[in-house]
Amino acid sequence: MTTVVWFRDDLRVTDHPALHHAVERGEPVVCLYVLDEESEGIRPLGGAAKWWLHHSLTSLAADLADLGAPLTLRRGPAQEVVSDVVRETGADTLLWNRRYGGAERAVDAALKEWAGENGVEAHSYAGSLLFEPWAITNQSGNPFKVFTPFWRACTSGPPPRAPYPAPSALTPAQPAPDSENLADWHLLPTHPDWSGGLAQTWAVGEQAAHERLDDFLEERLPTYTKDRDYPAKPATSGLSPHLRWGEISPYTVWHTALHRGGNPGTFLTELGWREFSWYNLYIHPDMAERPINPKYEHFPWPELDEDALAAWQRGRTGIPLVDAGMHELWETGIMQNRVRMVVASLLAKNLLIDWRLGEQWFWDTLVDADAANNPHNWQWVAGCGTDAAPYFRIFNPETQQKRFDPDFAYVDRWNGRQEGVEPIVDLKESRAHALDLNSQL
Ligand code: FAD
Repeated sequence: MTTVVWFRDDLRVTDHPALHHAVERGEPVVCLYVLDEESEGIRPLGGAAKWWLHHSLTSLAADLADLGAPLTLRRGPAQEVVSDVVRETGADTLLWNRRYGGAERAVDAALKEWAGENGVEAHSYAGSLLFEPWAITNQSGNPFKVFTPFWRACTSGPPPRAPYPAPSALTPAQPAPDSENLADWHLLPTHPDWSGGLAQTWAVGEQAAHERLDDFLEERLPTYTKDRDYPAKPATSGLSPHLRWGEISPYTVWHTALHRGGNPGTFLTELGWREFSWYNLYIHPDMAERPINPKYEHFPWPELDEDALAAWQRGRTGIPLVDAGMHELWETGIMQNRVRMVVASLLAKNLLIDWRLGEQWFWDTLVDADAANNPHNWQWVAGCGTDAAPYFRIFNPETQQKRFDPDFAYVDRWNGRQEGVEPIVDLKESRAHALDLNSQL
């Protein structure tokens, strides 16, 4: 009999619990990836994410081929496609690692039900989060609303399990099910091809993810806490897109960081913020559309100033740190965390443009665009999320630049000082106006 392993946001072979258990069963394996743009509620991928996915699937297919099995690619509503593949191959078992978004959980639950009704064993495993969201509650049984006690509760229980090794070989199902051609999915941009900067910046795939982790732990971990806020320094891990696509698991990152020694505490706490974002998405599946704090549903956003939005998107606000950040994002698909906070604050507070439009732009342009981290952080900056920055915390981009990029190294690298571009907003006045609107809520 055959086992179908359904790959999703876990494009790797090491510490892939579903693949590991499939191999343990000793049966032939079908490795399946489904591009699902049709199931209700599944958020369509942005442009930069599609670019990454193309390369990540190429890399995964090569790794699986080395182990002896092809990657089967199919497109369509996942419930239909996966059940078709199970039927076609006569598989008796279906395995996957869990997802935590609302629409994704609905698809998975429906498939489990279908499997039960059709005599197919279906099992799911924890592979993408260190702590299952439903397992973390406070003493009164309610969800946590503040990060620190949440993370304390996570880390005071049993530690995350050890990572599973990569299989040494796979037995492919014969005959292999038909696969679509990756090129036919048109994930790469063509007219125009804007991906040159992405290709220069990133090595995509599982091996690159492991190399990045090793490199970070060796070279940058010792100064991480001190330097991580300085955008000109290569101080952070750069792992976010690899974690987003599951090219490396948080279990591998966690245990490798701990075993290498050094002092990974601050770095591991950042992984904790990733857990907290996903925990919140699990509780608030509509987090990209609705403020978590209901008070902000009634925020009096003024009529949208399209020109101001375009100036922000294209890095033409006349505010050097903001423009540098937006150029970095456009060129490379990434932006350093402090700069993300600054540009987000400018949009939502000084320009008074609904944070959801900024979240959407990030969703389209970030290679690490993440269904939980992106809206959760936007809500944090906009002041409407869980454990969010208080509304009155409005980042002043000039002060931030003086503190964190004092010699303009970052601003000049990304052409943030542009001749003839005047600031589109008065920082002081707009700050006062935002505070005034907020006080009326
Ligand atoms: P490191 O500092 O090396 O941290 C290690 C890992 O911890 C990261 O790879 C990431 O997985 C996690 N992490 C770090 N900071 C955060 C955080 N604030 N929240 C959640 N997880 C975190 N991160 C995304 O992965 N995807 C997004 O779409 C995203 N959108 C953001 C939007 C805004 C407005 C802001 C302010 C932040 C956003 N972040 C997002 C969080 C953060 O900016 C990135 O995770 C970080 O910059 C990635 O760089 P790194 O991998 O070098 O991080």
